[in-house]
Amino acid sequence: MDKKVSEMIRNNQRWARKRLKYNPTYFTDMAEQQTPDTLWIGCSDSRVPAETLTGNHPGQLFVHRNIANMVIHTDLNCMSVVQYAVEALKVKDIVVCGHSNCGGIKAGAENTTRGLISNWLMHVQDLYTRHQTLLNSLTPKHRLEVLTRLNVAEQIWNLGRSSIVQDAWARGQELTISGLVYNIEDGHLLEEGVEASSAEELELNYRNYIARLLTLTDQDLDQEIVDRANKDKQANDEDDQEANQTTNYLDYY
Ligand SMILES: [Zn+2]
Repeated sequence: MDKKVSEMIRNNQRWARKRLKYNPTYFTDMAEQQTPDTLWIGCSDSRVPAETLTGNHPGQLFVHRNIANMVIHTDLNCMSVVQYAVEALKVKDIVVCGHSNCGGIKAGAENTTRGLISNWLMHVQDLYTRHQTLLNSLTPKHRLEVLTRLNVAEQIWNLGRSSIVQDAWARGQELTISGLVYNIEDGHLLEEGVEASSAEELELNYRNYIARLLTLTDQDLDQEIVDRANKDKQANDEDDQEANQTTNYLDYY
């Protein structure tokens, strides 16, 4: 067998033994049913594993991933996942998560791909064209960062306007959709994206968010990094205390 695959199987067996040591009925309980409360729509990028970076375990997230975390109404794969999550699993949250250093965003912005994937990334290119005045005023690094945020907001807008989510809200189903961006360089999930729990909220929050993004400057974006680093320092003590009291979730992976 392929060396890499053999290694994966060995790691899996070690992981399964470890789970059983913590909880002898871990797998039999899991086999009964899944009851995730969140649908995660993220990028296929190997550096953005949903469960690992959110501290979730198997069974807690329903996941769909594609290049550049898109929600396109004609994508039967993604829309089927959304429908199953909302109507069968009745998730209470849907998160669309973009990330920094995204190859899909970069390739879409620079129009460097050919073939099938270039059609997929055309959505990113359209977004770039729509906001090029703002984007061209920023340094290349910040340009892609803001395009990533714009893309997440756009996917939340698409998701919220889908018949599946609109119908869920219309019948009074509890459902919040939120946009997040994961910053690979410091491991933080940025919380400031569009969030909505109704059609009216989506309309308002999406417009306000885009208006705020359009005022961003390079200085604002540099300051955000400094602020996050300071926040980290303050939170370190609390993390240390918590780690002494709970099982380290990284043991699961
Ligand atoms: Zn990506």
